[in-house]
Amino acid sequence: MATNPHHIVILGSGPAGLTAALYAARANLSPLLIEGPQPGGQLTTTTEVENFPGFAKGILGPDLMNEMREQALRFGTTIINGWVTKVELSDLPFKVVVDDGREEYSQTLIISTGATAKTLGLPRESEMMGFGLSTCATCDGAFFRDKEILVIGGGDSACEEGLFLTKFGKRVRIVLRREEFRASQIMQHRVKTHPKIEILYNQNLVEILGDRKTGVTGAVLEHSQTAERTQIEADGIFYGIGHHPNTELFIGQLPTDDNGYLVTEPDSSKTTIPGVFACGDVQDHVFRQAITAAGSGCMAAMEAERYLAALG
Ligand code: NDP
Repeated sequence: MATNPHHIVILGSGPAGLTAALYAARANLSPLLIEGPQPGGQLTTTTEVENFPGFAKGILGPDLMNEMREQALRFGTTIINGWVTKVELSDLPFKVVVDDGREEYSQTLIISTGATAKTLGLPRESEMMGFGLSTCATCDGAFFRDKEILVIGGGDSACEEGLFLTKFGKRVRIVLRREEFRASQIMQHRVKTHPKIEILYNQNLVEILGDRKTGVTGAVLEHSQTAERTQIEADGIFYGIGHHPNTELFIGQLPTDDNGYLVTEPDSSKTTIPGVFACGDVQDHVFRQAITAAGSGCMAAMEAERYLAALG
């Protein structure tokens, strides 16, 4: 066991983790932040962020995350990249095992592992992922210049992806399983009035056509009410159907709610284990915004600081 455990180890490098790191670093707690396979988190897969206060003209998601990262580093955060394979919360100090075999020990742990894009679970999904099927318009949109694009989903993510993809695609068709969007009014208005976007209501994607050699060539849609099937042309299919929280490391150690999100005390980032705090999308299925994640990261760092101060 390490003789000198860290004061604070933070798991995850989205707005929650980096804000927690900034506050902990400015409190002279020299936090260690472990960034996972998608450094910067979900915002690195978005384009323009127009609703993060302080950026009147908007800012690109990846640029915003770079700024947050630089800010956290400036005050003494140590950032390492690695896939955490195990955490042990039953004894103090808490133990974190990284895939390169590295073991880190800490007096407190801030969990900000975020959430991951959902998929539909269609039979050929994993085969076609990266071969015309994607969960990230920002990452893959440019591969579909002048192509036929489908976006699955009716929430803000799907609308945002659809709008972004109009920069590349010949046509973007947004496929909704219901008769109405879940997205905010402003996003709905934007997609409904965009000349390159068509909306297909009451349709479920049931089959992805093509293979790894051809890439995606089409899709089979099934009407939600009549079950009538239609085959349509598509070169690219993008999923925008929501996310699931990244809690696998904590199952059996920390309670989750009905949707699988970590449970924290009301108005707090405290979990059921003293010294373990959770913030951002891993514990928030209601707001899920960059600014609320950042706010909860601030709360987690301040609560960790108070916890450490009380330890003496
Ligand atoms: P949401 O959960 O809001 O929406 C998911 C969408 O996918 C819904 O339309 C849902 O359909 C559809 N869906 C889910 N499962 C399936 C399925 N199996 N088959 C077909 N369709 C499916 O997720 P989002 O990622 O869009 O948004 C999450 C949160 O993040 C929201 O609070 C949103 O406001 C916010 N957000 C804000 C942005 C912004 O402000 N710029 C940008 C992106 C997200 P149904 O409606 O029928 O359930």
